[in-house]
Amino acid sequence: MDFATVELTAEQQAFQQEVRALLDEVMTEEVHDHERTTGDGFHEGVHLALGARGWLFPEWPVEDGGAGLDQVSARVLALELARYRVPYVTSGTTAGVWPSVEQYGDPQLVAELKPEVAAGRVRFCLGYSDPESGSDIAAAHLRAVRDGAEWVLNGSKMWTTGAHNCQYTFLITRTDPEAPKHKGLTMFLVPLQSPGVEIQAIRTYGDERTNAVFYDDVHVSDRNRLGEVNGGWAVLRGPLDEEHGAGRGDGLDDVTMGIGYTRVFQRAIDAAARWAKRATRPDGTHVADDPVFLDRLGRLVVETEAAAVTPDPMGRTKASLSYIAGIAELIDLVGPEALLAHGADGAIEGGTLDHAHRFAQGTATYGGTTDVFKNMIAQHVLGLPRLRLPGDKALVR
Ligand SMILES: Cc1cc2nc3c(=O)[nH]c(=O)nc-3n(C[C@H](O)[C@H](O)[C@H](O)COP(=O)(O)OP(=O)(O)OC[C@H]3O[C@@H](n4cnc5c(N)ncnc54)[C@H](O)[C@@H]3O)c2cc1C
Repeated sequence: MDFATVELTAEQQAFQQEVRALLDEVMTEEVHDHERTTGDGFHEGVHLALGARGWLFPEWPVEDGGAGLDQVSARVLALELARYRVPYVTSGTTAGVWPSVEQYGDPQLVAELKPEVAAGRVRFCLGYSDPESGSDIAAAHLRAVRDGAEWVLNGSKMWTTGAHNCQYTFLITRTDPEAPKHKGLTMFLVPLQSPGVEIQAIRTYGDERTNAVFYDDVHVSDRNRLGEVNGGWAVLRGPLDEEHGAGRGDGLDDVTMGIGYTRVFQRAIDAAARWAKRATRPDGTHVADDPVFLDRLGRLVVETEAAAVTPDPMGRTKASLSYIAGIAELIDLVGPEALLAHGADGAIEGGTLDHAHRFAQGTATYGGTTDVFKNMIAQHVLGLPRLRLPGDKALVR
């Protein structure tokens, strides 16, 4: 791993200032409040402001709606967006899906969508998880049946995060119920405004907003099919691999795909450190002068650093599990004040620790559970045999 510092050129430094100037302007308290109250992981005004500068796809050429940035400048941009806490869920799902749209979509549809996606007016969410199958995506049930030049969709998807802020869902459907499960799937880009689509909000314990989406005789054109009929598994692999941490490996990427979780935990640790400088014990000493407190806080900092440099499936697992265990330790260190929520009297820095504690819990689930990732590590990294669970056909035989 190369830990060398990257020296910014004068031009890259000027670019960094330009990014900060825009973010100072658009990342207002209203945006943070909006995120706190909606849990959307998205703010349209900010998204469109980034799109107007080509910063949603910053390395795309300017003529395609990008900003033609070099890799270092693109990294500078990404770090500033994280530092300013720009909501990132919907921009992330859109960027993750686009390469599959471009590779597998109808060329005319791709040409129509590309400038809209770059400008931020068209966005994509992920329609993988059925109510009956989350970890086992290939077992998707939602049916698509051909009807001339169209397909008719019936069924439902759970956890389609951002559906209410997106124009299309990247929807995996069952087109051949008789075929082996991976071979009977077809992918579509389904307009969410279509008649028969109903989006119902779900709020999580971690304040996030996600959705259940119901499809009742929804007609979608065959032009919106991505890839071959019954070839949906191949189309799904690209965004899934990206979600599972297959970065581009240029040394400028975040090492772990769990960096978003680690950053929330780091902010909570920083808030606890500032609190410790203010807070006093009954004997009048500052908490920050207590060596036991410092030792335990220091261990948590080391955990976040270790999580930030752990790659691949191990990184996703480490980022989540060390965060869940670590935030509980942090709450214990600080005491009951840590659990005061935003708006409560005495809440630490707007309830930063309370929110970080609740947000931590879901990180073991979305994007694939840590249990499933542990299986991946066992099988694909350690070369151990495939997991067999009671009820598996192999065991029954
Ligand atoms: C806030 C939130 C946002 C989400 N956003 C999206 C989204 O945008 N799009 C989308 O499609 N999905 C999304 N998901 C769904 C998420 O990917 C699934 O919840 C996850 O994959 C687990 O699936 P499940 O909930 O059906 O649980 P199940 O798969 O039913 O798992 C139940 C339990 O069994 C364990 N388990 C299952 N299979 C195995 C196995 N093979 N080995 C060991 N243990 C196993 C799991 O770890 C878990 O503890 C989101 C979920 C949440 C909570």
